[in-house]
Amino acid sequence: MGSRLAAHLGKLGIYRPADLLLHLPLRYEDETRLTPIARVRPGGLAQIEGEVVDCEVVQRPRRQLVARLSDTTGFLVARWLNFYPSLQKLLAPGTRLRLYGEVRGGFFGDEMVHPRVHAVSADDALPAALTPVYPTTAGLAQSALRKLIGRELDALRDHAEWLPASVVEQLDLPGFGEAVRLLHRPPPELGVACLEDRDHRAWRRIRFEELLVQQLSLRRAYNARRARTAPVMRARGQLTGALLDALPFALTGAQQRVVGEISRDLQAAHPMQRLLQGDVGSGKTIVAALAMLQAAENGYQAVLMAPTEILAEQHFLKLDAWLAPLGIEVVWMSGSRSKRQREAALARLREGEALLAVGTHALIEDPVNLPRLGLAVVDEQHRFGVRQRLALRDKAAAGVSPHMLMMSATPIPRTLAMTLYADLDVSMLDELPPGRTPVLTRLASDARRDEVVARVREACRAGRQAYWVCPLIEESEALQLKTAQETFDALVAALPELHVGLVHGRLKPALKSETMTAFAAGELHVLVATTVIEVGVDVPNASLMVIEHAERFGLAQLHQLRGRVGRGSAASACILLYSQPLSETARARLKVIYGNTDGFVIAQEDLRIRGPGEFVGARQSGVPLLRYADLQTDADLIAPARALAEQLLATAPEIATCLIERWLGGCEGLLRA
Ligand code: ADP
Ligand code: MG
Repeated sequence: MGSRLAAHLGKLGIYRPADLLLHLPLRYEDETRLTPIARVRPGGLAQIEGEVVDCEVVQRPRRQLVARLSDTTGFLVARWLNFYPSLQKLLAPGTRLRLYGEVRGGFFGDEMVHPRVHAVSADDALPAALTPVYPTTAGLAQSALRKLIGRELDALRDHAEWLPASVVEQLDLPGFGEAVRLLHRPPPELGVACLEDRDHRAWRRIRFEELLVQQLSLRRAYNARRARTAPVMRARGQLTGALLDALPFALTGAQQRVVGEISRDLQAAHPMQRLLQGDVGSGKTIVAALAMLQAAENGYQAVLMAPTEILAEQHFLKLDAWLAPLGIEVVWMSGSRSKRQREAALARLREGEALLAVGTHALIEDPVNLPRLGLAVVDEQHRFGVRQRLALRDKAAAGVSPHMLMMSATPIPRTLAMTLYADLDVSMLDELPPGRTPVLTRLASDARRDEVVARVREACRAGRQAYWVCPLIEESEALQLKTAQETFDALVAALPELHVGLVHGRLKPALKSETMTAFAAGELHVLVATTVIEVGVDVPNASLMVIEHAERFGLAQLHQLRGRVGRGSAASACILLYSQPLSETARARLKVIYGNTDGFVIAQEDLRIRGPGEFVGARQSGVPLLRYADLQTDADLIAPARALAEQLLATAPEIATCLIERWLGGCEGLLRA
């Protein structure tokens, strides 16, 4: 194969002959039938066959080639606005041609503009199958692609069937060979429409197999990591017990269950790979703290990494408040600390004198050395990339893999979780701590801004605090900052008797942390913020949240923001300011957030409105992307794919390898940390 052809094919993800089989058509054209010219109707696609009557280059209204054809039933005009001399030669009067294209009603009767054309002799048979139209790339013609794929199809043997007959039968799927043959060369009676909406069994077979391969590759990665060695950390209970005794609250049932699941994992000699899912406010931090203490009890180090400075600092303050009274040191690692402080902290970690650390990605930077790392906790894990999680894992001593606990407050619908997290064990915190007052949600048009400001004044006079979230301006950070500053100035002017603070992404970390601390201590009444407060801020006395231009935010974001209030005993409210006109989607989103408080329900609705393609983190999760299957419409295939993947890996790993090979060609992509 020429290198140019290989380069073109590479652009389409085709590297091996076998890849051609899975390069499936986008759509089809029906060239199996001829329409007599008299029966051609404007608006549809048609194929006609006739003889050229005359052909000329016309100069008006612009230069174009116009040919007239006739069969025994009538005349049809064909027009080309761009043409080569070779086309003009082909259209010599008397030549027999087949034309395929869209028919329009023209001034001189029906015509086709830029139809596909080729010469035929009177006895040339029509194609027996629908014509596939493939995704292609500039420089690679459909006809060339068709020829290559056709050759591969001819060579296809029926032993290419790898799914167990029982599964194929139960799901009513055709065999692999049958499916690809049908999709590449569909018999005309099937009809173009029937295949194009992709409901056909043959498509289902392909989509099932793709989902199966996704599961296989993720589960295989899971098993490979499970084969590594991790420190055994017994549940001794000295430190965890002391913390539990000192806590002002008792763990919820869900927390107890999850703490148990994690504690069991940590005692195994292979690394935990667990995701802790829990809605905002479900109390993930204490669960992480208890796991970290189990590591410390065994003389191992544990770190907690969070994606933002504010979030990491909140975690640090919380852990420190819990653990300092027990005489346990927590090291704070962030880019904002002075060089001296950082070096002192590094030394304590390197020497193993300090066992616990909290920080941002500063934790995975080069000088950090964690020789006794036994557990790494990653909060808001979807905000980190694969590489960052790998880097964290590599901080442990050579040959040892630390236990990993990923945490996420972004609830994900079950079917999506089964694919996104197929290579993790999942724990669920599905219960909120008691004593939370439900947050009242209000929608208000921004014409009523003054009333909302009055509401803020009222709440703060009653001893409460409020958040005011600035509009999201995705296109421009500069504009975002300007708006934040203006919002702040306006609120300072409108509320002269109150203390108002401002945090945004560009603030110096020290200043940011000073403002946050003042707000947490109750010295500021109102905190004006960009979405930096989106995750993890915990100020129970704040009972009012105002979100400006709420229609610009995603559902997950709105849910997270709203979760910042309702953390204390006071009645809390969230006011969503919006401005007209609202788009269809924005209206749908606001309706969902107004009517629901359960994060999982909101996530399900989010999936419905947006589709899974854009779902949080899906892109950078390292999960192989799906070409044909759709996590929403094929939701019913996911559970069977998962079950079969487990079965094949356990009983027929060589078949698993063949399937992965067929779809991913040995390039399985980056394994997830
Ligand atoms: P998230 O899951 O969103 O990270 P946090 O860990 O920040 O939630 O917990 C939210 C708040 O609830 C914190 O103030 C925390 O101390 C408190 N909390 C956690 N567990 C309980 C519990 N079992 N009972 C009462 N309060 C709790
Ligand atoms: Mg949290």
